[in-house]
Amino acid sequence: MRSDGNDQYLEATGRYAHLLDDPYTPVAPREPITADVQVLVVGAGFGGLVTAARLRQAGVSDIWVIDKAGDVGGVWYWNRYPGAMCDTAAMVYLPLLEETGTVPSAKYVPAPEIQAHARRIATTFDLYRDALLSTDVKSIAWDESAARYIVRTDRGDVLRARYVCASTGPLHRPKLPGIPGIHSFAGHTFHTSRWDYAYTGGDPAGALMSGLSDKRVGIIGTGATAVQCIPHLSRAAGELYVFQRTPSSIDVRNNQSIDPQWFAGLAPGWQREWMSNFTVLQTLGFAEDDFVKDGWTDISIRIRDRMARMVKAGAEIGPATLLQAYEDSDDEKMSEIRARVDAIVRDRRTAEALKPWYRQLCKRPCFHDEYLQSFNNPTTHLVDTDGKGVERIDEHGVWVGGTHYPLDCLIVASGFEVGTPYTRRSGFDVIGRNGVALSDYWAEGMRSLHGIHVHGFPNFFVIGFTQGANQIANVPQNYVENGLAIADVVRHAESKGATRVEPTPEAENDWLTFITSSQRGLRGNPDCTPGYYNNEGKPISRSDMFNGSGHPGGPVAFFEFLDSWRQTGEFVGLTFT
Ligand code: NDP
Repeated sequence: MRSDGNDQYLEATGRYAHLLDDPYTPVAPREPITADVQVLVVGAGFGGLVTAARLRQAGVSDIWVIDKAGDVGGVWYWNRYPGAMCDTAAMVYLPLLEETGTVPSAKYVPAPEIQAHARRIATTFDLYRDALLSTDVKSIAWDESAARYIVRTDRGDVLRARYVCASTGPLHRPKLPGIPGIHSFAGHTFHTSRWDYAYTGGDPAGALMSGLSDKRVGIIGTGATAVQCIPHLSRAAGELYVFQRTPSSIDVRNNQSIDPQWFAGLAPGWQREWMSNFTVLQTLGFAEDDFVKDGWTDISIRIRDRMARMVKAGAEIGPATLLQAYEDSDDEKMSEIRARVDAIVRDRRTAEALKPWYRQLCKRPCFHDEYLQSFNNPTTHLVDTDGKGVERIDEHGVWVGGTHYPLDCLIVASGFEVGTPYTRRSGFDVIGRNGVALSDYWAEGMRSLHGIHVHGFPNFFVIGFTQGANQIANVPQNYVENGLAIADVVRHAESKGATRVEPTPEAENDWLTFITSSQRGLRGNPDCTPGYYNNEGKPISRSDMFNGSGHPGGPVAFFEFLDSWRQTGEFVGLTFT
């Protein structure tokens, strides 16, 4: 436990501001643009692309997509580290597969294929036409007399947008560990989300990083990113030192290719069914089939089935039985994961240090079939810090437990900001009616209707999952479902000739009361080992509660609710003027 919680991390500002630079696409000079825009979508990751695609499907022709990156893809644009892939099954993770006629190559697909899919969505829905890439939004301010947002960018653009969709992403702003002396390291260093292939050699497709063959390489962090790139580093580096604070749980991956013939036989509408099936099973629900069948659904199915057996044997249906079923299933699962470490890793001390001792859902579960094996490679060394983290860094290397590890290259796999203010992560504030800033309106926590609409910010849509489904194991499902609702709202406003759409304060308050009436989905188990899944072990404040709440019935209930809310065509809670 650390008393500083999230404050232990350094922000990518000042001497670390270069962390946010785009190393992949040179910024092409262009003249500033002044234009009237019907819909401006900020952020060209899956959230922005899917929303824009839904709007296109709803008949909106004037859609501009803007992103500071040099191409679309969001986190899949930035994260090009070797081995990057999505460990949620492509059949449910890649949005709009049917609409774009895409067959994923495998059950879990690599990052370049995911970015290519993002490009395919942009091409299919003609979103490149009015895309402003390598362009950073600086301010968004509502002009009441024009009923438009005035949006300014770092390229001098002034866009007057009727609607703004903000899809600025939850986990994209790199952070650094606040390790004493981190700035003093004189060797080569970079964050995993800005991989320096010019130094390492190799490429995002996994070619051997020949530039590292004579190098002593260190990597700080053993989260989902590190787990994927360490096997590649292990193969390439002269010596590799893995600095571990908390071991990740590494479950089986078992990737398989997808048979295009089988895929061709899927009935229209299959993807929505698959997404729904995944979510039902992932949230302890009942379904006859498990389409995805992997580690994400496995833990829930174990809990659910154990609970059913206990009830059959006479236990009462209720929270105590559920808790017991959860604890027993988790214990069983984690014992299997620890036994797997023993079965794979030859050195006993290393194997012990690699075993996660906590509950699986305390931290983000990982799945890999080569990570543990890397520690059998004699040039790969696990430096376990006994939960304390790296002690300090100097010009020549890293200190742990009084031992100095000299390094040529230090790779930082310390993740991304979570739980920091929305406007800090997006890099701009939004000024609504009467000059109210979104950062002020949300100073004590997010306030919204359905996680999408905000009172005082007409024609502004938040793209995310907070205060809605909170579906985090398959984030894009939030986008495909919420995108349908946003598109219907815009279509309705246009058909009525309304220039403003906004939730009433009563509807917003009622929604907040409703979602905070249950603790479901709140990440706050203080018994867990700290991390972003439990607010770094800090107690949940009132604003954390607002920021972390979702529909009390869970993601499935929210998606069903939102679907019928939009289909009635009444859009209860919104005013169109
Ligand atoms: P994480 O935040 O998950 O991991 C950061 C790592 O850095 C942790 O192991 C952390 O240890 C370690 N760390 C932080 N400070 C120190 C320190 N002072 N000394 C030593 N170690 C330290 O970041 P990732 O980039 O790995 O992943 C971020 C998220 O991105 C994932 O959780 C996931 O949601 C997403 N992702 C998704 C993938 C996918 O397949 N869909 C793949 C990769 C990432 P500790 O655990 O003790 O805090």
